[in-house]
Amino acid sequence: MTSTVAPNGPKNFIYSIVDEDLKSGKNNGRVATRFPPEPNGYLHIGHAKSICLNFGIAKDYSGTCNLRFDDTNPVTEEQEYINAIIDAVKWLGFDWQERMYYASDYFERFYEGAVFLIKKGRAYVCDLNADEMREYRGTLTAPGKDSPYRHRSEAENLDLFARMRAGEFPDGAKVLRAKIDMSSPNINMRDPVMYRIRHETHPRTGDKWCIYPMYDYAHCVSDALENITHSVCTLEFEDHRPLYDWFLEQIGTLPHPQQIEFARLNLTYTVMSKRKLLELVSEKLVDGWDDPRMPSLIGLRRRGFTPQAIRSFCEKIGVTKQESTVEMGYLEECVREDLNVVTPRAMAVLNPLRIIITNFPEDKVDYLDAAYHPNDPEMGTRQVPFTREIYIEQDDFMENPPKEFFRLRLGQEVRLRYAYIIKCEQVVKDAATGAITELHCTYDPATRGGSALDGRKIKGTIHWVSAAKAIKAEVRLYDRLFNVANPSGDKDVDFKTYLNPKALVSLTNCFIEPALAKVKPEEKFQFERLGYFCVDFASTAEKLVFNRTVTLKDSWAKTRKQHES
Ligand code: ATP
Ligand code: MG
Repeated sequence: MTSTVAPNGPKNFIYSIVDEDLKSGKNNGRVATRFPPEPNGYLHIGHAKSICLNFGIAKDYSGTCNLRFDDTNPVTEEQEYINAIIDAVKWLGFDWQERMYYASDYFERFYEGAVFLIKKGRAYVCDLNADEMREYRGTLTAPGKDSPYRHRSEAENLDLFARMRAGEFPDGAKVLRAKIDMSSPNINMRDPVMYRIRHETHPRTGDKWCIYPMYDYAHCVSDALENITHSVCTLEFEDHRPLYDWFLEQIGTLPHPQQIEFARLNLTYTVMSKRKLLELVSEKLVDGWDDPRMPSLIGLRRRGFTPQAIRSFCEKIGVTKQESTVEMGYLEECVREDLNVVTPRAMAVLNPLRIIITNFPEDKVDYLDAAYHPNDPEMGTRQVPFTREIYIEQDDFMENPPKEFFRLRLGQEVRLRYAYIIKCEQVVKDAATGAITELHCTYDPATRGGSALDGRKIKGTIHWVSAAKAIKAEVRLYDRLFNVANPSGDKDVDFKTYLNPKALVSLTNCFIEPALAKVKPEEKFQFERLGYFCVDFASTAEKLVFNRTVTLKDSWAKTRKQHES
């Protein structure tokens, strides 16, 4: 059932390691990975890289990938996050089948392992407080020194650890530590804490426990209990690997998964830490975890990003051990690539300017055929109503345009997409303010569908909607969440000072062609000339709301060039 090497040659260095293991017969040809989120926040696009990698390896080698909640810290973890994580992984298109686990399911096993290490003389109860412990730990250049509690007897340690579990001591009074080496050059090996006291109610185990294991101890044991073969994690755990291996060797009876580290995803113009994202949410600087400005998977989903686009992005950026930062524009390009293929086209006017077609009958409606997609006839067609009054975009008309302006100007013709060629005859202004209120135009009935029979050249084509038939909608335009590429770059400056106040612009007087009257949340369209749009989660037939996912082109590339030149 399992393949012997990666089907299409190694995709990245982790695939090469798996290939080697399969060749040498390690793990009896089994490949088992896991995605281990801590349920202390919503998943973000960085997690998508890890999800695609772990589930991808399992898929490519006909192995398995578990979803495991690393729920060992009840102070910050919540059921809401667990539910959101389950939804996000499913939405991305991955399936853990029946293998959804919780580290908290193993609390009794962790406890047994800790007792085993105490009996082996490899763990002890320590009464130093946090400050003292830091002082005893030493520094990168100076060795640490032994805790005065390091030489407690086995009996005393067993008794104290049992009483820690029984709730006899307050938070912080004691910890259980591994007995390794206080002079190790690797600080992680200087008698790291295994258990701490937290009188907290856990989302799953309730008040059964008041001692909770530390990540480094719980993680490797969970991997071993689940028979994981390749424990893939991000580079910051590289220095923890000796500890990962130490615990498993000392406990001995378990299989020994291999920890492999890769470089985490960083993206420009955003932050990618649950702690920082939570800060934005709780200080109400964004509208919740699913705010379309957020790099959270639920935010990107609400914005209109597709699972396909995110998976293809993760595939393209690859997996290495080199820290790097990917341009946000690259992610957006992957989204465009997907949306271009899958979205129907439609017309919407975001900043309406009224046009009266003076030679078009008052009550007439002319239904024009329009294809939903230029290259995909399967998407079908719809009928776009043309009437005496229409809307165009305000910036598609200029009174005193530059020479290369090919849209509408006084006395000139322009083509209305799918409809007719019109000519602007008169500009009507508000007497008081001088603002343009409407345009009077004439249409050429001989140009139905948009082409002139006499072959006269019309350079510009603009989009429009019927004023009588269009539906009103709110359209939200998004920009980068931060106005600098690396908002966390300066330790002395709060990343929130770089929030981009123009990241959300809401337009409430937009008009959409009537074919879209019954759209449902998450439906996606290309509004011609304007970009890709997604119906908002909270949109209803009475109050339509669209989010712009991305513009049609990378306008940032142009801006960047202008800045550079
Ligand atoms: P954060 O720093 O955002 O709080 P985390 O590492 O604490 O993230 P976990 O829930 O522990 O979040 O992460 C689950 C898995 O996702 C881990 O294996 C972690 O290494 C991986 N992961 C987290 N952030 C990224 C990222 N930016 N790129 C790739 N993988 C990531
Ligand atoms: Mg973590």
